[in-house]
Parts: sequence; C-alpha cells; structure tokens
Amino acid sequence: MDRRKFLVNLGRGACVLAIGGVTYRVIKSQLNPETAGPSTRFVWAIDPHKCTGCGICETACVRTPSAVKAVNDQKKCSFCVVCYGHISDKQIASDKIMEAGKRVCPHNAVLRESYSGTVDGTFIYSIDDKLCTGCGKCVKNCKEKGTQSMFLIIRPDLCIACNSCNIAAKCPEKAIDRVWFGPEDDFKGEYALESGQY
Ligand code: SF4
Ligand code: SF4
Ligand code: SF4
Repeated sequence: MDRRKFLVNLGRGACVLAIGGVTYRVIKSQLNPETAGPSTRFVWAIDPHKCTGCGICETACVRTPSAVKAVNDQKKCSFCVVCYGHISDKQIASDKIMEAGKRVCPHNAVLRESYSGTVDGTFIYSIDDKLCTGCGKCVKNCKEKGTQSMFLIIRPDLCIACNSCNIAAKCPEKAIDRVWFGPEDDFKGEYALESGQY
C-alpha cells in the first residue's frame, strides 16, 4: 500500500468515526438537494461505545447479508504485529502469523498488510466488506483485548432504512438509534484526500 492510499484510509477512518461509516460518495448523493428528501437526513447508526459485538447484528437485519459491517479506524489502530481482531493466538511467532495464525473471522475478512515490510514491523488491518457478515467477533476481541479500533457500522448504502430497525429492537445494549446527519458533518477531510489535495 503506498503512502497516499494509506492516508486516504486514515481519512476514511476519521470519516467513519464522525458519521458512522458513510463514504463521501454515499453522503454526497444523499445530500444532493435535488434528490435528498427529509427521510434521507436520518440514518440508523450504532454507538460503538455501547456495542459489545454480541452477534445479533449479523442475523437480526432484515437484509441478508446484514447491512452491518465491521470497520477498522486507522487513527485508533496501533498497527500491531499481533492483532486480536485478526488472530486469537497471541504466542505465535511473527513470521508464522499469516500461514498458521488462528483467524478470528470465520470468513477471513480481516486483512493484514505489512506497512514497514518487516515481519516485526507495522501492519495495516482492514476489513473486506464483501466478505464481512457483521458477526462482530473481531470487534468483540478488539474491544476486550486491543485498542477498540474495530467497530460495527450500519452502511447507509446497504441499509434499506426500515421504519423500525429490527436490530435496534433486539439490541441488548440499546446501541442503535436514528441519527441525523447533514451538511454540518465533517467529511471534507476525505474529499480533500481523494481529490489529491494532500
Ligand atoms: S445487537 Fe447491539 S450490541 Fe449486538 S452487535 Fe449489534 S449493535 Fe452491537
Ligand atoms: S469477524 Fe465478523 S464482523 Fe469481523 S470482519 Fe469477520 S465477519 Fe465481519
Ligand atoms: S434498518 Fe433495516 S436494513 Fe437497516 S440495519 Fe436495521 S434491519 Fe437492517
């Protein structure tokens, strides 16, 4: 991964935290005054401080696969050699992680990429959202043993914005609510990165 791509991902991480994982393009289309109606100004969102990664998000969503996906906030991640969202066996030798590390994700959706180029250096962890089913296992592990950089989001481009979210009704932590987002939300950072200004 080159530096620009890395910075773009950092920007994405910040954006994700600010508004719950909406990409600039999605927001842009939703905030277009020509097409945006009042209903598009509210989205269902997960409060990462309340969510425990219990697993209900994977199965309670009316969509299959779930509109809920995991993300890794690059601003909070420590780029560790051993990531608890990635593997569950801490004692494994660094050079054996990729071939023998016991994966946390049942779908192998947590990706690990060397940033420093050395087996004991820094690593970038990201989620392949095409593989992620929103089961929350990586989030739970990262929350309990890591830096809490992984969390679940409801993707507005996948969510059909049910009038009453079935996951919100079932969430034991009451972590899901409708939230307003509007032009005042800060996603200019990512736009600047994507348009090559940094
Ligand atoms: S149901 Fe609630 S606590 Fe469980 S994973 Fe979803 S948001 Fe988190
Ligand atoms: S462990 Fe679950 S939530 Fe995490 S990336 Fe894999 S499928 Fe998604
Ligand atoms: S509003 Fe509907 S589609 Fe969206 S996350 Fe909730 S149950 Fe899934």
